[in-house]
Amino acid sequence: MRIAVIGSGYVGLVSGACFADFGHTVVCVDLNEQKIAALNNGEIPIFEPGLDQLVAANAAAGRLSFTTELDSAVANANVVFIAVGTPSRRGDGHADLSYVYAAAASIAKAVFGFTVVVTKSTVPVGTGDEVARIMRETNPSAEIVVVSNPEFLREGAAIEDFKRPDRIVIGIEDESAREPMTEVYRPLYLNQAPLMFTGRRTAELIKYAANAFLAMKITFINEVSDLCENTGANVQDVARGIGLDNRIGGKFLNAGPGYGGSCFPKDTLAMMKIGQDYGAPLRLVEATVAINDQRKRAMGRKIITAYGSDVRGKTIGILGLTFKPNTDDMRDAPSIAIIQTLVDAGAIIKAYDPEGMEASKSVISGIQYASSAYDAATGADCLVLVTEWNAFRSLDFAHLKSIMRNPCFVDLRNVYRDKEVEPHGFTYTSIGRPSRAGLEELGSAAAE
Ligand code: NAD
Repeated sequence: MRIAVIGSGYVGLVSGACFADFGHTVVCVDLNEQKIAALNNGEIPIFEPGLDQLVAANAAAGRLSFTTELDSAVANANVVFIAVGTPSRRGDGHADLSYVYAAAASIAKAVFGFTVVVTKSTVPVGTGDEVARIMRETNPSAEIVVVSNPEFLREGAAIEDFKRPDRIVIGIEDESAREPMTEVYRPLYLNQAPLMFTGRRTAELIKYAANAFLAMKITFINEVSDLCENTGANVQDVARGIGLDNRIGGKFLNAGPGYGGSCFPKDTLAMMKIGQDYGAPLRLVEATVAINDQRKRAMGRKIITAYGSDVRGKTIGILGLTFKPNTDDMRDAPSIAIIQTLVDAGAIIKAYDPEGMEASKSVISGIQYASSAYDAATGADCLVLVTEWNAFRSLDFAHLKSIMRNPCFVDLRNVYRDKEVEPHGFTYTSIGRPSRAGLEELGSAAAE
């Protein structure tokens, strides 16, 4: 198949490289000239494990190329994927579809012969109808069918997810799209990945429902972790105890500082708006959005409580800035709100992230950036683990104790246990797990 991918960001680039690896001929298009120049130079604009080798191998094999010339890429393609961004619209939280609609109009002008146009971007239910309308209006004689094929990859494990998906959802309104879409995914189909054909609107809704459900699951365990803290229960054991039930499943039950990233925050917000617009309010999603928003700042306050007194003028070291490990994506990372809360309280921040420092500098200013975890800890009054990068999983606490001004460690990802940290003279605070001091307090409260 000859494939054009419009938008060479996270999803476009990973999809394009994987389609090329399946044996298709792929042209990735982007408006951003710098991005395309970098890709043509063999530089990958994002950090995603394994993506550099995959791009290099397929580019060298002549199956993958990059261009800013949408017209020629589209004219030569049988299948065109739209993978442009759908951020939250400023002010109201609806998905901003202007990039999708602009891409649709450009594609309509450039198509040649029968072409399947596939929306891979996450879009509200009914967007495919509007994309089809725009294309018909722009070029009434074009032979186009519009398909929805939402993407479920996770940043940090994107290639594995793309090549071994749990399912591939394809929403069609016209049977003529079935065969070319099956052909695009044939290598995965042969690997037994279920190809699920549905109506277009259903496919669009599946993506939002999946993200909203996962965000809700995270938010549920986060609230349970607060209850654990107040009752002396252990959230990790609660999560395991419920997760072993097949009806619940153990994934997405790690209590933490709240979900972030390029998808969950904007997609939950957009789904909430869709529900309101269609007269079917999604109250669980609305509660999820509100609870998660509050949680990030609550984590800032938790750090201040863990330190035990006013943090004005105190130095707080931050380990991890990206919304999760193995990505340099800073979009809606919980670290942003946590750091803002600490800065508002007068703290001095010294932060380190293995891959996210450059992206962070354009989002978080007025803080110091350290060159390593130990540099962030040097002279700090409190050290906070925000993102669970592997590099932070075996910290040398004896060394940390010797370089910090005050031995206070806050673990927002439950990477450690109190018995690994406290013997080095640290006070240790984690999420939803009883501390010795907390249990003593609960015990004396119960005795009263
Ligand atoms: P991104 O911001 O990383 O990339 C979008 C790219 O599209 C940018 O490089 C931009 O320059 C380009 N672009 C915009 N308009 C264009 C046009 N008219 N022609 C050519 N290029 C154009 O976005 P992303 O993270 O890859 O997300 C893309 C879509 O996929 C979104 O709808 C998102 O919700 C969805 N999605 C993202 C993920 C993820 O993990 N990032 C996972 C699943 C789905």
